[in-house]
Amino acid sequence: MSTQLPEVLAAESIAEWGDEFDVVVAGFGIAGGCAAVEAAARGARVLVLERAAVAGGTTALAGGHFYLGGGTAVQKATGQADSADEMYRYLMAVSRDPEPEKIRAYCDGSVEHFDWLEGLGFEFERSYFPEKAVIQPGTEGLMYTGNEKVWPYRDQAVPAPRGHKVPVPGETQGAAMVIELLVKRAAALGVEIRYETGVTNLVTDPDGAVVGVAWRKPGETGAVRAKSVVLAAGGFVMNAEMVAANVPWLSEKPFVLGTTYDDGMGIRLGVSAGADTRNMDQAFVTAPVYPPSRLLTGIVVNRNGERFVAEDSYHSRTSAFVLEQPGAAAYLIVDSEHMERPAFPLAPFIDGWETVEEMAEGLGIPYAALKSTLDSYNEHAARGEDPDFHKGAEWLEPQDRGPWGAFDLTLGKALYAGFTLGGLRTSADGEVLRDNGSPIPGLYAAGATAATLAQDGKGYASGTQLGAGSFFGRRAGANAAGRAS
Ligand SMILES: Cc1cc2nc3c(=O)[nH]c(=O)nc-3n(C[C@H](O)[C@H](O)[C@H](O)COP(=O)(O)OP(=O)(O)OC[C@H]3O[C@@H](n4cnc5c(N)ncnc54)[C@H](O)[C@@H]3O)c2cc1C
Repeated sequence: MSTQLPEVLAAESIAEWGDEFDVVVAGFGIAGGCAAVEAAARGARVLVLERAAVAGGTTALAGGHFYLGGGTAVQKATGQADSADEMYRYLMAVSRDPEPEKIRAYCDGSVEHFDWLEGLGFEFERSYFPEKAVIQPGTEGLMYTGNEKVWPYRDQAVPAPRGHKVPVPGETQGAAMVIELLVKRAAALGVEIRYETGVTNLVTDPDGAVVGVAWRKPGETGAVRAKSVVLAAGGFVMNAEMVAANVPWLSEKPFVLGTTYDDGMGIRLGVSAGADTRNMDQAFVTAPVYPPSRLLTGIVVNRNGERFVAEDSYHSRTSAFVLEQPGAAAYLIVDSEHMERPAFPLAPFIDGWETVEEMAEGLGIPYAALKSTLDSYNEHAARGEDPDFHKGAEWLEPQDRGPWGAFDLTLGKALYAGFTLGGLRTSADGEVLRDNGSPIPGLYAAGATAATLAQDGKGYASGTQLGAGSFFGRRAGANAAGRAS
């Protein structure tokens, strides 16, 4: 693996084109599957080249949150008011460097996209899970999966839950069900899928338009001519050199989440043809401290004894702030009244102490600073206030009943895991863009190969990867088919 760009092949150098399709899609995860199905539904002849022996990629590992809103059937059935405008306001507010046109398209198209997903042959359960958790434990269809109720966002957009989970219990692999349905739909629409066949190069004409791909499978190489190519080959979290070059802070301690072929090949193919990238230095990295959500009544402090984030934030937001603290060290402190032990503690329990002084000594935090932080928090929490970080009222409870316990959120102690968020710069239509903003003719990208909607861990909401990957995958497929016709 490397950071090296594949060579771009000139069309005239291809001695023999194996065959010709309207649209060639690289990769069959959520983005590639949706692109292929949408392109074929519009009458295009579609070929998917999939490097693995099966479809699914990282999507097959995913729990199955799709971030959708604006009044989906689940939101309506469970009495959760939402509108495309509020969803837009929220996503604009929470994004580090928002792309208004893409966010607008995503929010305006969200209800139709929800219906399209269900049209593949499943139903999101019409039920709402009201707890603060990382993912619904059962098959509940809807929950909050972002910072919608967290300050300052709750003042910028009316909060609504938008984390729609596929009806598969458990925390992982739910989205594999959607892949199965996409494979079936693709077959019904006449999409050809060639497995164990990886795209190795893009082929361009003298004007720089992409007109095909070169591929390799065990013992064989070849080239396919195409009117357009969709890159949907996943992210780069498994390419250690690319991670070290772009997201050095992800390259050591956090555990990386992905599959073998998240080696950045899709991104490198795009860059080889002149594409720009976005957010390559950003990642979603997290070590959730909840559930149990009651722990969020506690306070998170750094090694100076200072709070630095509203503790009711979405877990990757809290984690992103922890990683910015001195020594990437932080502790969640909870009193005896509110202490509960997580079933699977990603942030390990350190110890319990009878007094704040002993706790300060045990944690290596200056006593005066810790006492002052705790006293101030308790005094305000008793009045239902948090002037410093505006933690939501439902989590404001004084932590004044010793003994106190602490969990270790420090990088290297807590089990941080994550994946990259950067990728090719794309338009709202899925076109791959150069750094001057012009599209590369014939080239589209979606999913983790493209820069994601979420942009960074502070603004991430669970479900934006599958949500935007499927939504913009469809748009890439539709526009690729349109170009071919
Ligand atoms: C444990 C876990 C849980 C997650 N849960 C969620 C969740 O609930 N909601 C959410 O939104 N996100 C979730 N994510 C993130 C999400 O799963 C991914 O961001 C998303 O699935 C990426 O989809 P994709 O289609 O871009 O890539 P993939 O699903 O990885 O598909 C890419 C495909 O391209 C193939 N490929 C690679 N290189 C080539 C090549 N050169 N030629 C041809 N084929 C190639 C790969 O084999 C793969 O099949 C989770 C991630 C993990 C790891």
